[in-house]
Amino acid sequence: MYEGVVQDLIDELGHLPGIGPKSAQRIAFHLLAADPADIARLQDVLGKVREGVQFCEICGNVSEQQQCRICRDVRRDTSQICVVEEPKDVLAVERTREFKGRYHVLGGALDPLSGIGPDQLRIRELLTRIGGEEVTEVIIATDPNTEGEATATYLVRMLRDFPGLAVTRLASGLPMGGDLEFADELTLGRALSGRRAL
Ligand SMILES: [Zn+2]
Repeated sequence: MYEGVVQDLIDELGHLPGIGPKSAQRIAFHLLAADPADIARLQDVLGKVREGVQFCEICGNVSEQQQCRICRDVRRDTSQICVVEEPKDVLAVERTREFKGRYHVLGGALDPLSGIGPDQLRIRELLTRIGGEEVTEVIIATDPNTEGEATATYLVRMLRDFPGLAVTRLASGLPMGGDLEFADELTLGRALSGRRAL
């Protein structure tokens, strides 16, 4: 335990996902030694992030405007929607450069034990989108873990009734139990191009 505010900083950093006590300590001491201008920039961004970030009205991705950069891009194929859990998964799929369609961010995965049912996710928005746009394929790219699989199964059931709509799922080969964002570009790209119909 350090005295006072240094320990507070370490504690706060330690609450962040993926940062253990050792990393928290390392980051804290890095910040203590950092250039004041760097700290000011970090402070500025942290202050803005709550109020400045909004979510795209179409896909639910984080966005600086009402519609995100991908939804605004007229070169993107509007007939394909790739359904992911989180905005970070959009980045993961984008990195593969294999996908030219648009996205739909659910905002999580079904997890009844934590109280996350279909109404807590942007599933209704997805169905409305498919009903209103010229969508011919929905690629389900939820995480390869229990919640992600349960979500995929649920979505398949909901999407079955749309005539002429192909519903596909990323090919296996992704590390099970993992997070989409942790798959390397090559593996994820292969899973995408080898997607299978459901
Ligand atoms: Zn969007």
